[in-house]
Amino acid sequence: MEIITDPRQMQAIAEKLRLNRQLIGVVMTMGALHEGHLSLVKLAQQSAGTVILTIFVNPKQFGLNEDLHRYPRPFELDVALAKAAGVDYLFAPEAGSIYPDNFQTTIECGALGERLEGNSRPGHFNGVATIVTKLFNIIKPHLAIFGQKDAQQLAVIRALVRDLNIDVTVVGAPIVREDDGLAVSSRNIYLSGQARHEAGVLYRGILYARERLAIGERDLQAVASEVSRMISRAPGFTPDYVVFVDEESFEEADSALEGKEYRLLLAVNTESVRLIDNAAMSA
Ligand code: AMP
Repeated sequence: MEIITDPRQMQAIAEKLRLNRQLIGVVMTMGALHEGHLSLVKLAQQSAGTVILTIFVNPKQFGLNEDLHRYPRPFELDVALAKAAGVDYLFAPEAGSIYPDNFQTTIECGALGERLEGNSRPGHFNGVATIVTKLFNIIKPHLAIFGQKDAQQLAVIRALVRDLNIDVTVVGAPIVREDDGLAVSSRNIYLSGQARHEAGVLYRGILYARERLAIGERDLQAVASEVSRMISRAPGFTPDYVVFVDEESFEEADSALEGKEYRLLLAVNTESVRLIDNAAMSA
């Protein structure tokens, strides 16, 4: 595995790979690699001849009061995990080479980026779309794998690729979970033992909602409220939002139409940690 830090060098390598007819797959991360990230690498390897993993803690997607400075950066461990997973190139640029002093152009996501996560984290998705576009231009991938763990991010990236005619296939990968159902996340290490113990409640909420739909409940707003109350009963857990969206349009949905797919989205704050989760379910 080759480690590249210079964007121009990465770009030159990608150009050469393309000329050699290599199918390039990219997995973009902020590091602190875990099973979730590695499942994306595996998926990329199934279709791409060359897999490039990026590690970049992108300052532009963090709000002023967010965890940019305390975000975990176990680089040596990440290198070992990436190597063991069979990654071909690890691209880990410095912030200064991605955002030099004269940097001024950003991507504006529109309404989809302002709701839900975007409402609680203003500017977050513009920061995500900007770095993803830059990494597309540097790596020139044929295939880009993103986790469904960040469902709204995936929707934003699909819209970005569609709207700006970016020539890449976006693939959504299933959520990797701990034994109690908690979605694996680099931020889970912030949780105290007590909060970690309670955190399975998000997934229990998802299972409950799925069960309610399966037995014929069509009032999505009522189900979302029940899940929200369920989570509130866990000590120290405060839901930010629990809502259903239409799986295709990502528009909020209050009631279900027979046979349609919906996605339950949850964002919950506990001990200054923000946990997000989601699951698709059909009515
Ligand atoms: P992050 O480093 O948290 O920005 O995540 C990088 C990529 O990994 C994103 O596409 C995430 O959606 C994905 N990801 C993070 N956690 C998981 C998980 N538990 N299961 C599947 N994908 C994940």
